[in-house]
Amino acid sequence: MITINELLNKGFNELKEGDFSNPLLDVQLLLCFILNVDKVYIYTHRDELVNKENVDKFNELLNLRKEGYPLQYILKKQEFMGLDFFVDEGVLVPRPDTENLVERVIDLSKDLKGKINIIDIGTGSGAISLSLAKFIKESFVYSIDINKRAIEVARKNALNFDLENVKFLNGDLFNPLDDNLKGNIDIIVSNPPYIPTSDIKTLQREVSKYEPKEALDGGLDGLNFYKEITKEANKWLKKNGVLAYEIGYNQGREVINILKSEGFIKVRCFKDLSKNDRVVIGFKA
Ligand code: SAM
Ligand code: GLN
Repeated sequence: MITINELLNKGFNELKEGDFSNPLLDVQLLLCFILNVDKVYIYTHRDELVNKENVDKFNELLNLRKEGYPLQYILKKQEFMGLDFFVDEGVLVPRPDTENLVERVIDLSKDLKGKINIIDIGTGSGAISLSLAKFIKESFVYSIDINKRAIEVARKNALNFDLENVKFLNGDLFNPLDDNLKGNIDIIVSNPPYIPTSDIKTLQREVSKYEPKEALDGGLDGLNFYKEITKEANKWLKKNGVLAYEIGYNQGREVINILKSEGFIKVRCFKDLSKNDRVVIGFKA
């Protein structure tokens, strides 16, 4: 028989050799998941024995994690903006970086009155769409993804959070939207795929091998989606409407230029906590 403490040590020793940002936390969360307890329980029951079935399960999941399989796909969840999102294979795990974009958009929405129509291009798990739907009063979010699985996962999250002010649409960019929304949108937001194709293989294994390519690949220079969405955004936004993007750490200058060249005004770039360019915002003239 083996104790909680011994399992933690074993797991940590195996993971610490690999490319993991936080091996101890990973092992703790795996064990919590298997034993169905919280972290405090693990600290306060270090000498408790773990039954064989759970030890086997732990070893199985530890091996999966050792190969780089994302922890969030094992646990089936990721916290974002204080909400517990269900996540699953085939859908990008929401990143803390993306909270920068959501917070900026929530801030800007405070200057708007009445019903606020929002388009989110690239739903994923619903991280952006659903936090905007929750935290912006009187918002209605049109949330579009080309990946059917993303739409299913996001729908499930909307149900869990009891949010009805979101419409999910499966399709390419603005195509699934009704034409009568043209000129009626207050905010367009997107965290599009922005990694240059040739950089994808250099990302952490858990990203490059296990997360969906169509959520990451922004074409040769990583800027394809910014060019396409910005051009199209002009047709859907109201005057003074907001276009807000998450961008890669080195794309600030280029994305600002794309917005300016399509006539957007008051274009600005904002940094994240690591002082990297992270968000670009502009307004329709
Ligand atoms: N918004 C989510 C988030 O921040 O966690 C997901 C962002 S992920 C970087 C980009 C998303 O865009 C993926 O879910 C991908 O399926 C979707 N996507 C890729 N190409 C698309 C297209 N042509 N039209 C609509 N969505 C697309
Ligand atoms: N932030 C993601 C990463 O680091 C990339 C997401 C994107 O392409 N929008 O892998």
